Amino acid sequence: MRFVVHRHRARRLHYDLRLEMGGVLASWAVPKGPTLDPAVRVLAVHVDDHDLDYYDFEGVIGGDYGRGDAIVWDWGSWAAAKTPDPVRAVADGELHFDLWGEKLAGRFVLVRRDPKNWLLIHKNDEHAVRGWDPETLPRSVKTGRTNEEVAAG
Ligand code: MN
Repeated sequence: MRFVVHRHRARRLHYDLRLEMGGVLASWAVPKGPTLDPAVRVLAVHVDDHDLDYYDFEGVIGGDYGRGDAIVWDWGSWAAAKTPDPVRAVADGELHFDLWGEKLAGRFVLVRRDPKNWLLIHKNDEHAVRGWDPETLPRSVKTGRTNEEVAAG
């Protein structure tokens, strides 16, 4: 299955982690962005599923919901761990998974804290990097552009 992370400058900057499962892109908005630092637990707000054709969207979003610019910050493949049924794992509030992206890699866990708010954690595996900051890698993996360049057209 595929995953994508959009860097989305809406009213507030956030990163949208989207995992293909069950025919849609299950999605979490991560205000601080994902990290490879295993000591950091970041908030991940479970948001609406997106259609698969949104996978490689990059551009300016109009309207009221999510107005702003988005880039394909990372993409690649993913696989659920510890379960054959990721849709069920999300419903149960705990998903272990591996990412093979251009920026992100290794084992992550999403754990539900309440109906909206989850934590995203990177396990301390061979891909872990202490102090790793997503903001140091601002360019799209699809086009090489930054959010600022996309917004400027
Ligand atoms: Mn968003």
